[in-house]
Amino acid sequence: MKLTTSKRLFRNAQKYIPGGVNSPVRALNAVGGQPIFIDKAKGPYLYDADGNRFIDYCLSWGPMILGHAYKPVLDAVRKTLGKGTSFGIPTEIETQLAKTIATAVPSIDKVRLVSSGTEAVMTAVRLARGTTDRDIIVKFIGCYHGHVDHMLVSAGSGLATFGSPSSPGVPDDFAKNTLLLPYNDLDAAKELFKKQGKNIAAVIIEPIAGNMGTIPPAEGFLEGLRTLCSKNKSMLIFDEVITGFRFTFSGVQKMLKVQPDLTCMGKIIGGGFPVGAVGGPAAVMDNLSPDGTIYQAGTLSGNPVCVSAGLATLQALKAEKPYKKLGDSGRKLADGIDEILTAKSIPHTINRMGGMFTLFFNDEPVTDYDGAAACDTKMYAKYFQHMTANGIYVPPSQFEANFLSTTHTDRHIEQTLKAVRSFEPK
Ligand SMILES: *Cc1c(COP(=O)(O)O)cnc(C)c1O
Repeated sequence: MKLTTSKRLFRNAQKYIPGGVNSPVRALNAVGGQPIFIDKAKGPYLYDADGNRFIDYCLSWGPMILGHAYKPVLDAVRKTLGKGTSFGIPTEIETQLAKTIATAVPSIDKVRLVSSGTEAVMTAVRLARGTTDRDIIVKFIGCYHGHVDHMLVSAGSGLATFGSPSSPGVPDDFAKNTLLLPYNDLDAAKELFKKQGKNIAAVIIEPIAGNMGTIPPAEGFLEGLRTLCSKNKSMLIFDEVITGFRFTFSGVQKMLKVQPDLTCMGKIIGGGFPVGAVGGPAAVMDNLSPDGTIYQAGTLSGNPVCVSAGLATLQALKAEKPYKKLGDSGRKLADGIDEILTAKSIPHTINRMGGMFTLFFNDEPVTDYDGAAACDTKMYAKYFQHMTANGIYVPPSQFEANFLSTTHTDRHIEQTLKAVRSFEPK
């Protein structure tokens, strides 16, 4: 695979952009790679600056569930563009997107639109703190909720410790209001609530984790958190930035029948544009400014071009009901990889939910961050290099999810499995 142009573009980028990238994971440091610069994309394919073509299982980290350059989305964007790009004054289409989300998601009456998943989390956390008049937020080790200060916190020693900053620039004073728990450990959550329950503003969780690789909740785990939060008058926040509209035309909350107090969305609801959302019951959402006293704002919030892409995406998902097909494609691919690696005696575990899965190079079940962290990341780096060399773009880190789009067909899956068959790690 020739990467001459990508190499040149990366050298140039490094002169003017820190690390040459606008989001760190794109530097491919985790897999020791040379960043690939993209020229264009269509359906399941990425085309790089050197003219290499890849079947894409990263899909812009999740949003492109309908494949790249999906015509109805492009048409909607073009139509909106012709009318101007930003007014800073309300447009009708914002209500249409908010109504579509509120109608589809059981716990949501009202939606505030923002411009990223990070911003959605920031807003949800402030709303929970302002509503409960408490400061402490509980998060789970390995879950990612954007790059906002009080979420960039890692565990200290021992369980349920006060957090310590996981990045320079995050003050200890912020981090100490974030408490950490292991994913899928309800007993640890009960212990923590016994001591701290009346100080906890909210528990925030990815109801199916995607940012330590795909990890589904254990049976009763989300229900248990719901009970703990209700008893202690703490809020339960589902960060559905990855999972929203991915497995059903709603959230994980509808699929698993657990209602959070607040929901964060992003990725799919922007159809490849910067859109995020916070939603919840009217009584809570109305605490936001201007009706309430909790401040939140955004110059480009609800931008009509972005919102039209999101709305066109949701409309297509609603009309086409592709969820069974996405699940079938995900199963075929994941089962195929499993079979091939088993025959090669390469230790692995695959966690899958619908059209989202992670191949962990660890033969034990992976149910939390420790399990994910125990993976052979060197093996993953070899796998990534092998797959890209064979025209398959998989996530450039062991701790991410593969995504399928409606444009991935049996032919693409067969081509992908063919590449896996020739994987011979040394
Ligand atoms: C991607 C992601 C975010 C952050 O969204 P951005 O749009 O990158 O700010 C937050 N939470 C989860 C679960 C995510 O996967």
